[in-house]
Amino acid sequence: MKFDKPITIALSKGRIFKQTLPLLAHAGIEPADDPETSRKLILATNHPQVKLLIIRATDVPTYVQWGAADMGIAGKDVLLEHGGEGLYEPLDLKIARCRLMVAGRAGAELTGTPLRVATKYVNAARRHFAAKGQQVEIIKLYGSMELAPLVGLADLIVDLVESGDTLKANGLVPLEHITDISARLVVNKAAWKMKHATVTCLLAALREAVSSEPPRS
Ligand code: ATP
Ligand code: MG
Repeated sequence: MKFDKPITIALSKGRIFKQTLPLLAHAGIEPADDPETSRKLILATNHPQVKLLIIRATDVPTYVQWGAADMGIAGKDVLLEHGGEGLYEPLDLKIARCRLMVAGRAGAELTGTPLRVATKYVNAARRHFAAKGQQVEIIKLYGSMELAPLVGLADLIVDLVESGDTLKANGLVPLEHITDISARLVVNKAAWKMKHATVTCLLAALREAVSSEPPRS
């Protein structure tokens, strides 16, 4: 693939990077280093015009919004919290799939009002309960949400659920399904215009890769 403009793609290490690799490979792009072992935050690829930025998952939309990266790969959960300002979201990559759910202690009576909800996903949680007309108090956490109902910090949590094993191991049960989550390709709106040929070329290759890869979790 020949690109007429340089392209920077922001993504996070861990599951997003691992599951994106085969899609990039399908588009003819292979990173020169493995971010799990390299300390480099900017990875060259076999393609002279393509660089990868390795950043925190929650920072991906910010880098792309401000044009520090032309494109990025971010979970829908992260995009819901970010709000998507300055971004196009042209492709569902169908990787890193899970569900955003409300969960609570098995058999717990939920009688208090307002119920307290602990979550990293404050915006998505607020919208979900507002849409149901349910008044809740949201407590922002940065991780290990499962602990909150066990120690009386909250009645409910809003968290990502894949198999449900983590909930189960902590005596929690899924209660409400908020939305399905997967990783999305996001593109900076200015890059979309200024680097249109390159962006559409890469987008087409990734779209092709998604439809020929078996769906993953
Ligand atoms: P950090 O670990 O740096 O705090 P993070 O937890 O957001 O950040 P990851 O655990 O790699 O980073 O998650 C990245 C993305 O993968 C999430 O934004 C979400 O979209 C998706 N994801 C998270 N947990 C799961 C899961 N259990 N199954 C499938 N996809 C998941
Ligand atoms: Mg994590």
